[in-house]
Amino acid sequence: MMVEDPGPTELPLPAPCLWGCPECVRLLLALADAWADDCFWEQLQTARHIVEAHPECVPAQHLNRCKLCPQYASRADDDAARVWAQHRARDLFMPPEVARML
Ligand SMILES: [Zn+2]
Ligand SMILES: [Zn+2]
Repeated sequence: MMVEDPGPTELPLPAPCLWGCPECVRLLLALADAWADDCFWEQLQTARHIVEAHPECVPAQHLNRCKLCPQYASRADDDAARVWAQHRARDLFMPPEVARML
């Protein structure tokens, strides 16, 4: 769709569970547009939408090489749970090395 030759810093093909959602497509296209520049806001919007609209798509806790999952898991408040879900959702539409920075 938007990726021709995925290298390490290119956007991967988004997870199939997002393809049928017009809002996801809109957000992912906006992210792809902004990817080369500052796309922080687009990343946040996309992750937030996925957690709210597609909770069944959000991956489980990362078991390997994730510094953030254990930190989020150790906190019990709702805020942390939401931010943690957004952290995991980033895996669905960004390369792991970028997704796991937040
Ligand atoms: Zn969606
Ligand atoms: Zn993680």
